[in-house]
Amino acid sequence: MHRKIEGAINQITISRTPSGKYFVSFNSTVAKNKVFKQKDNKTDKTGIDLGIESFITTDKGEKIKPPIFLRLLERRLKTSQRSLSRKKKFSANFHKQRKKIAVIHEKIAYQRLNFLHQLSFKITDENQTIYLEDLNVKGMIKNRHLSKSIADASWGEFTRQLKYKSKWRDKELIQIGRFEASSKTCSVCEWKNKYLKFHQRKWLCPECKTIHDRDINAAKNILKLGQDMSKVKPVEKSTSVFSFKKRQVGSVKQEPVPNIGMHGNLLP
Ligand SMILES: [Zn+2]
Repeated sequence: MHRKIEGAINQITISRTPSGKYFVSFNSTVAKNKVFKQKDNKTDKTGIDLGIESFITTDKGEKIKPPIFLRLLERRLKTSQRSLSRKKKFSANFHKQRKKIAVIHEKIAYQRLNFLHQLSFKITDENQTIYLEDLNVKGMIKNRHLSKSIADASWGEFTRQLKYKSKWRDKELIQIGRFEASSKTCSVCEWKNKYLKFHQRKWLCPECKTIHDRDINAAKNILKLGQDMSKVKPVEKSTSVFSFKKRQVGSVKQEPVPNIGMHGNLLP
């Protein structure tokens, strides 16, 4: 035992994984303030874009990719599965290969969970308010080129972890439904790029001349939309559909747009 069990044990579960490992897990109840320190007085806000190339991109330009060993394992899984399909069904080699695949699956599952736990801990630790896309909207985006199933599973689990960790630590997690793809709107002047293609990672806004990184721009829009939402509905933090159009109601005249860089700094 690497850790002392605190509180009265409610339940004990014994499980065996497909690769043959046994686990015993204990469920006990511990007071919240014994596990987490009180409010940390952080005020930072962050907008997060979920993606495939970078698992998350924040409005501050931080990009976090899944760790390299995870990507390598996923590749190894593919080749092992191909090798299994060539084996004679239910032969000794078939069973051996199947066990090998179970071990890889297990490794991927644990490493992915570990990656997601560390990341969701970091984000809830550093911020008070977290703005995130609604996954139902994200799921509507068709992506024929990339292995979306892997990303899908991780996005769902990541959101789940952010939700309960935010709750534990008295942080706010606000999910926004996107009416229009946030990657296509300029986060500086709100010009819409109808022509933005999926493979385009960078683009120049013809209105305000900002050069955008696709994902950072999306994360900035998520933060903006989320903050507008909080202003409109300070109490209700549930999912709601918002679009940039609603913000423009009443603004008739466009102010001359200053030349603003990607991080909001004024350019000469
Ligand atoms: Zn612009």
